[in-house]
Amino acid sequence: MLDNVKVVLVNTSHTGNIGSAARAMKTMGLSQLVLVDPVSPPDGKSSALAAGAGDVLANAKTVATLGEAVADCGLVIGTSARSRTLSWPMLEPRECGEKLISEVANYPVALVFGRENNGLSNDELQQCHFHVCIPANPDYSSLNLAAAVQTLCYEVRMAFLAVTRHPNADTETEGAYPLSKDLEGFYTHLEQTLTKTDFIVAKHPGMVMTKLRRLFNRARPESQELNILRGILASVDKLAKQKD
Ligand code: SAH
Repeated sequence: MLDNVKVVLVNTSHTGNIGSAARAMKTMGLSQLVLVDPVSPPDGKSSALAAGAGDVLANAKTVATLGEAVADCGLVIGTSARSRTLSWPMLEPRECGEKLISEVANYPVALVFGRENNGLSNDELQQCHFHVCIPANPDYSSLNLAAAVQTLCYEVRMAFLAVTRHPNADTETEGAYPLSKDLEGFYTHLEQTLTKTDFIVAKHPGMVMTKLRRLFNRARPESQELNILRGILASVDKLAKQKD
């Protein structure tokens, strides 16, 4: 189960934090570390701080974009030390652990962490289904990256232990939700079609796509429903082509 939980670190600056994150993960039984465009690749400092979690560090995958890191995931949860201008469905750390564990049997799930200096970008946050914020001291709420990884991996472990102790407890096995890459494919199609119909003006796209992402994210369409939406877009494309 825990092998299906990815910890994704985006554009990390300090190699030591990568090692500490690996250690935090291993203590909680997690092993899948993905590095998105790290400022420097793991080095001796990472290994020193990983201590006995050198295997997690050695198995870490490096990719260029967050999209690549989560393409095969059906649930993506982003972390943020502060609330952003655009509100997004939020989870408490406890709910975050429970949600990840409730869907982990269906597909890989991901927990995404941001840059030490400025967290995750709005674009990156919009690729997540939910956001989680550790309700720390409001006067100083920004944890060290690896400390945040430790805290949330602990919650994943608690949820995992609860399920293993009560194997018949509710887990969402029916959740036929689409993978991140299919959802992204839908958003690209939607934007193209809406640009074709001039609903979106290419030069002034505004916030339409962000708001639509938020709407679909809130509804969380299942795979079949997403196929229907793709079909609707294809029918609009066909009509637009006939009119050309
Ligand atoms: N100044 C940045 C904080 C970055 S801390 C900002 O305002 O966003 C580095 C990373 O640690 C964050 O991107 C997040 O992944 C994690 N983190 C730190 N504090 C957190 C908190 N209170 N809740 C959730 N994640 C947190």
